[in-house]
Amino acid sequence: MTGQQSILVVEDEASIASFVALYLKNAGYAVRTVSTGQGALTQLASEPPALVILDLNLPDIDGVEVCRRIRKGSDVPILMLTARDEDVDKIIGLEVGADDYLTKPFNPRELVARVKTILRRAAPERRRDEGEEITHGDLVINAGKREVHVGDEEIQLAPKEFDLLWELLDHRGLVLTRDQLLERVWGYTFAGDTRTVDVHVRQVRRKLGDASPIVTVWGVGYKVASEKTSAPAA
Ligand code: CA
Repeated sequence: MTGQQSILVVEDEASIASFVALYLKNAGYAVRTVSTGQGALTQLASEPPALVILDLNLPDIDGVEVCRRIRKGSDVPILMLTARDEDVDKIIGLEVGADDYLTKPFNPRELVARVKTILRRAAPERRRDEGEEITHGDLVINAGKREVHVGDEEIQLAPKEFDLLWELLDHRGLVLTRDQLLERVWGYTFAGDTRTVDVHVRQVRRKLGDASPIVTVWGVGYKVASEKTSAPAA
């Protein structure tokens, strides 16, 4: 596919919607705006965008619920906008499957930078390790299918949770700092909000339970130990 990538902006505050649209258009994207959750779901069904920017506080359906409904049928990248800092835990804690978030007021250049990053990472060719699989104890993670299994059970991870787990497993035995993880998983090339990393690690641990291989290295970051079990060498 060539040409402009289209972005759906879901925001009921007209001033924010138009300013976001302006910056995205200047960055070369085609932009559609809707002001309600229902409008977003209708747009998604009729003309799927490359990315959705979704305000958390909408007049009809809550942004969290909109996100959840989108995720039932689509992997379209979602960048959430929140009015307050405390909403962040809500977005991530509820496992709604957003790819990233920004807290208002935000710098529009940062918004554009994040959109570019998310789209770059969402491109199918981004995974050099397509089809690759990592086994770690009972945990099997497949990059091509983007599936995680613990034994026979499939575990549903949000896209960033998956990428974070993959990155740590792919660097087994090495400690990755929060900034390194932000850069590799979220694509930030500047020091971002490292709390994002902690919240995602918490989610991965909760979903994997005892099978979680992620170890906290206090004051530094996270790692996965080199080998969990003494599986026979191939
Ligand atoms: Ca709003």
